[in-house]
Order: sequence, then C-alpha cells, then structure tokens
Amino acid sequence: VAKYEGRGHFRYFEQSMDDSVQTRQEIATDLRNALLNNVGLEVHFQPQVDMSGQHVIGLEALLRWQHPTRGTISPDEFIPVAEENGVIIPLGEWVLRQACRASHTWPALFIAVNVSPVQFRSSDFANRIKTIVAEEQADPTHIELEITESVLLNDDDESRHTLMALRDAGFKIALDDFGTGYSSLSYLSRFPVDKIKIDRSFIRNLGEGENSGAIVESVVRLGRAMGLTVTAEGVETEGQMAALTEAGCDEMQGYLFSRAIPQDQLPALLAKSEGNK
Ligand code: C2E
Ligand code: MG
Ligand code: MG
Ligand code: MG
Repeated sequence: VAKYEGRGHFRYFEQSMDDSVQTRQEIATDLRNALLNNVGLEVHFQPQVDMSGQHVIGLEALLRWQHPTRGTISPDEFIPVAEENGVIIPLGEWVLRQACRASHTWPALFIAVNVSPVQFRSSDFANRIKTIVAEEQADPTHIELEITESVLLNDDDESRHTLMALRDAGFKIALDDFGTGYSSLSYLSRFPVDKIKIDRSFIRNLGEGENSGAIVESVVRLGRAMGLTVTAEGVETEGQMAALTEAGCDEMQGYLFSRAIPQDQLPALLAKSEGNK
C-alpha cells in the first residue's frame, strides 16, 4: 500500500502498519469515549519514599486503562496515541483533578502528576492548571508537575514563562526520566526546576559493576550543587538502594517499595509507613 506524503514522496507501508494506523484511530476514539463516559480509566498511585525506604513522602499519579475489549492497555501505548490527536489535554486535566482529590485525602504527601509535552505547549496551559487546582480547592504547593526534557529542548521564552508562572503559583516542577533526553545540563540553570528524577535505566545496573554508580553519583552531585532534590526511579533491589544512599540521593520510587496501586489500597500501605516513623 502506498501513501502519498506530499512533495512527490510516497511511502510504502506493510499491511501491519496499515492495521496499526487503524488501530490507533480506534484507540483514540475509545479513549475519548472512556473519558466522556468515565468508564475504564483509573488513576493509580505509586509511593515515593525517603532514603530509609520506610516513610512515604509522596505519590505519583499513573493512569490505568481497562479497554472494553482489548483488556489493559499500558500508558506507554495509549499516551502517544492521546498525544497525536489531542485527547491528552482533557485526559491530563482529568488526571490532575483526581490528583487534587487525592491530595485532600493525603494532605501530608505531595502528589506528582505527569504532564505531556503536548499538554505543556497547549494554549494557556499554566492558567488552565491553576484554574483546575483552584476549582478542586487543592493546595498547589502539594502538587508536583513532572515534565520531560523535551519541554526544555526548544529553549524558548514561552516554556520558561509557563514554568515560572506555575512555580510562582506554588507548584513544584520535577524533571522526569532525567538523562534519557538531550539533557544539556545548562538547561537546568535556565529553567526553574525543583527536582530531577533519574531515569530507571541508570538505576538498573547500580551496585553491580565498579563504575555502575558513576552516572548516578555525578547527577546527585550536580543536583546538590544546584539546590535540587534528586529522586531515583525504578528502584527494585536492596543493593540499588544501598548504592543510592552511598551516592547521596534524596528520594526513591520503585517496585522495592510498591507498585502503583489503586487508592483504596493506600491506607494499609500508609499505615505501615506511619508505624515506621
Ligand atoms: P513515568 O512517569 O516515568 O512513570 C514511571 C513508570 O515506571 C511507571 O510506568 C511505573 O509503573 C514504572 N515503574 C515504577 N517503578 C518501577 C520499577 O521498580 N521497575 C519497573 N520496571 N518499572 C517501574 P507506567 O505506569 O506504565 O507509566 C509509563 C509512562 O506513561 C510514565 O512514565 C509516563 O511517562 C506515562 N504516563 C502514565 N500516566 C500518565 C499520565 O497521567 N499523563 C501522562 N502525560 N503520562 C502518563
Ligand atoms: Mg513520571
Ligand atoms: Mg520517569
Ligand atoms: Mg516516562
């Protein structure tokens, strides 16, 4: 099958590629309906802990989708589709509302929310976020917005102003998946950021080889020097936790402590965390 792409270019797709385009369209429609009818979508929360590994300090809101016929679809699959067609904007706002409600229930914790670059660049983003949080009567200082390096890539004034407006309103800004993008470290000094989350690909081999900790150690040192909080993502073993403690990391998140869980399972987990204080 040939598809005309303009300017004299044709591209030949495999049959499966055609299916995939159709599938993506279906998924986009289904996602819109899920949001409209409020069925199948749920926000789960993954704890973030201090370096003792015992005390929960925050929760990351992570979307879960039970598709009516396809079963569970991973956000790594449906978020890109939602970004392609703009559904990510109402979807991201819906997640933010759930996060605000969770912050009423857990006032001692911060709630982290992922922000897609598409959402970030949508018109009037900062004001929309502020309005939603005000409508939900939540405290912006308890909400952490996780952005990715791609937001900082086009080093433009607009992104900087958006971040500054959110920061001024009290929101915390975290740089997610740190180290996987084109992170020129100079971005960090030009944009108002409170936290970096070291991507789990750097945590995976920690404590195994002699130099396995070098990257993590230098990120921690950099974060320290810039007054940023450093969080490690994807912590799965005691060995990784020990290496992160050694490196001087501030916070951790990963299966070693808990997966993302539905809100009704949080009380039991948090009661344990309280008991360890
Ligand atoms: P992320 O923001 O980097 O979230 C962390 C991901 O790593 C989550 O995957 C989490 O379940 C997983 N994870 C946490 N600890 C461990 C661990 O110890 N080992 C392993 N192997 N994985 C761990 P999840 O929930 O599948 O989400 C994937 C990505 O989808 C997220 O990565 C985020 O980029 C995106 N996403 C999820 N929910 C939302 C949302 O509400 N809005 C937007 N824009 N993106 C979202
Ligand atoms: Mg995240
Ligand atoms: Mg991440
Ligand atoms: Mg990610």
